[in-house]
Amino acid sequence: MLSTGVALVLANVALLGIDLFLFRGDMERDLRTLAAVVAEGSAAPLAFNDPAAGVETLGTLRRRPVVLAAGLFGLDGRRFAIYVKPDGGGVVPPVAEPPGERFAAGSLVIWLPVEQRGARVGTLYLQSGLQEMARRLRLQALTVSAILLLAAGVSYLLFANLQRWISAPILGLAATARAVSARQDYSLRAEKQSADELGQLVDDFNLMLARIEERDAELQQARDGLELRVDERTRELAQELAERRRAEGELAERNLLLDQSNRELDDFAYIASHDLKEPLRGIHNFSVFLLEDYGDKLDAEGRSKLETLPRLTRRMEALIDSLLQFSRVGRVDLAIDRVDLNEIVAAVLESLSIGLAEERVEVRILRPLPVVRCDRARVGEIFRNLVANAVKYNDKAEKWVEIGTLERDPPVFYVADNGIGIPVKYFASIFRIFKRLHGREQYGGGTGAGLTIVKKIVERHNGRVWVESILGQGTTFYFTLEKEA
Ligand code: ADP
Repeated sequence: MLSTGVALVLANVALLGIDLFLFRGDMERDLRTLAAVVAEGSAAPLAFNDPAAGVETLGTLRRRPVVLAAGLFGLDGRRFAIYVKPDGGGVVPPVAEPPGERFAAGSLVIWLPVEQRGARVGTLYLQSGLQEMARRLRLQALTVSAILLLAAGVSYLLFANLQRWISAPILGLAATARAVSARQDYSLRAEKQSADELGQLVDDFNLMLARIEERDAELQQARDGLELRVDERTRELAQELAERRRAEGELAERNLLLDQSNRELDDFAYIASHDLKEPLRGIHNFSVFLLEDYGDKLDAEGRSKLETLPRLTRRMEALIDSLLQFSRVGRVDLAIDRVDLNEIVAAVLESLSIGLAEERVEVRILRPLPVVRCDRARVGEIFRNLVANAVKYNDKAEKWVEIGTLERDPPVFYVADNGIGIPVKYFASIFRIFKRLHGREQYGGGTGAGLTIVKKIVERHNGRVWVESILGQGTTFYFTLEKEA
């Protein structure tokens, strides 16, 4: 309605403008013609200086109601004769003005020269009212208003019907859509009101709702199933967790007991070996005294047998010392600190330097070792035992020992040599205390406790020690100093 209204008003304003313009042109032309006629009739009175005849001539304008006033002016520019329409509101200026036409103060005025036989005899003045134009304007405005009203009425009628045919179904559809989204209820349906395209739209919309409803139901079902499964699995997991906790608890308890009994064993070994040393020293001393004081009273065989006694006691003392050392590892708490392994290895090599130089052993450290958290003194013992063995169990002319790290998580340290090697079947047993693979005096002797002590120190660091070896080619001992994942 608004758009048609605006269009109509604009069109009419334009029409009115054009009409007024044309009407003004017509008016000017009419007045000019009238002025020409009156001027012709006024020539004689002016020429003969007959004002009464001039008034008479102007008086004929009475029949033209549109003329409000008229005047004749002599050549001197003064008024000669006038005519003023009663109650017309017209005026005649006191003196003549230059010829021409102009609109002024609600009227159109014309000044025209009056001539007789080619010679000017005076000037004619005519004033015409614009009532006609106002009347036309009013009429036009009335017409426009009437048309506007009519158009509005027709628009309204059309709109009301369209509303029923188009807007109402669409509004219904929108209301359903809003209800669906507000309530999340996909069982709602829009009402079909006609069998046209809009009806089709409603059908399609309802179909879509039906599909969503179906999906929704399936989704809900799946969700229910999932929840059930999750519940079930959660219960199972909780059960598993409880069982694992119980198992862990038992394990911790058992470890505690094991630690305790290990400690008791270490204590026992320590005390026993400590206590054994004293009588052993006595036996040793007395056998030496015996040899010194009564040696000559024995025959050769007796003396030879007596001579083995100090040797055996020395060996026993060495064994007891190893046992003491071993038990001490278990009894003393570790002093864990950040330790630069390069420093430890340097100190060990320094303390073994005489033996290394004597045997002309090449020591290889390819890359610097890392800094790790461990017990400085105990880890020094590990390197000392492994490097000493690497030198001891080597019969090659050109001996070498390599110390290094494998960059694993946790890092793996190794001591490798090109010595005699170890048969695979002894890989495990060499870590047992007092286990030696050779004769008492072979390869510089030993008590067979070194590797056992190494293993104990490594395990106290939660690490692991193992060996790889090829008989006759060489041996590598590996170890870690922290728990492996
Ligand atoms: P010990 O050296 O006192 O005999 P260990 O516990 O250090 O005791 O070693 C146990 C045994 O393992 C040794 O007797 C030796 O036979 C073997 N063994 C240790 N290290 C090496 C090595 N680097 N190469 C060959 N055999 C070795």
